[in-house]
Amino acid sequence: MKPAAFAYAKARSLDHAIELLGRHDGQARVLAGGQSLIATLNMRLDAPDLLVDINRVAGLDCIARRNGYIEIGALVRHAAAERSDVIRREAPLIARAMPHIGHPAIRNRGTVGGSIALADPAAELPACLLALGGEVEIAGAQGRRTVAADAFFKGLFDTALGSGDVLTAIRVPAAAPATRTGFAEFSRRHGDYALVGLAASATAEGRSLRDVRLAYFGVGATAVRARQAEAALIGTGLDAAVAALEQDLAPEDDVQANAAVKRQLAGVLLRRVAAQLTEQSA
Ligand SMILES: Cc1cc2nc3c(=O)[nH]c(=O)nc-3n(C[C@H](O)[C@H](O)[C@H](O)COP(=O)(O)OP(=O)(O)OC[C@H]3O[C@@H](n4cnc5c(N)ncnc54)[C@H](O)[C@@H]3O)c2cc1C
Repeated sequence: MKPAAFAYAKARSLDHAIELLGRHDGQARVLAGGQSLIATLNMRLDAPDLLVDINRVAGLDCIARRNGYIEIGALVRHAAAERSDVIRREAPLIARAMPHIGHPAIRNRGTVGGSIALADPAAELPACLLALGGEVEIAGAQGRRTVAADAFFKGLFDTALGSGDVLTAIRVPAAAPATRTGFAEFSRRHGDYALVGLAASATAEGRSLRDVRLAYFGVGATAVRARQAEAALIGTGLDAAVAALEQDLAPEDDVQANAAVKRQLAGVLLRRVAAQLTEQSA
């Protein structure tokens, strides 16, 4: 299919992008890598008046360590994040997740900011952001604001971004020597969106773990924390944590798998990811 007619504008700066978005009263969309947006337009799931291309906006493609955080600019391509030494060293969960996002051609164009802004419930990066207790930097007509990952993802493809906002960067705490991370997903073929996935972080204390954060994806309208399982993993043990997923997760049948299969897979993933977390502590 072909998209409905739309106008196109190349933003010269962040302020220019915000001004263009503001002029169109919710009928303009930010264009980043276009890997999801263009498909959405082609299928006529959306028909905006204007696309505001932010690819030439300076300063949105940096990866840097600042004040104990790793900041990843919105326009950092998945492929650049995958190759980044800073991310491999200081945000290893994101490095683990990157190869699972689509295929090389998609990772060459798709952006970190686009993936977080889209908030696909089966996507890897929103879950990583949640598991790391990260935050999102947003610029809009009222200025800049920072939103914690726990508050950013609101519902199905719904986030704290307003229609006139540009996501400028994400930030995650830089890994410390005691930081442990785990990542696993099930997908039908490598590169497909996951049926179910799990991103996790923790802090090692001797052979034990504390501050465990488990973020599942593909099991709800957003990536979700499995808080009862987190507590059980610290306090009671792995079997109790797997049992606690019954309270934490409420997957529904979808085109990929029914709810019972998703529940079963969620438990298997927890066992795999828990092994990754504790292997690093051994
Ligand atoms: C075949 C295929 C397989 C894929 N597989 C996976 C996968 O396994 N896992 C996965 O996570 N993704 C997958 N993707 C999606 C891919 O990761 C996209 O790149 C990503 O979801 C969106 O990034 P983008 O830069 O292309 O955003 P775009 O397509 O340009 O934009 C997506 C949405 O976000 C908004 N947006 C983008 N940037 C900003 C910003 N800075 N501020 C505010 N709003 C913004 C746009 O307006 C639009 O609504 C796949 C895509 C394809 C085509």
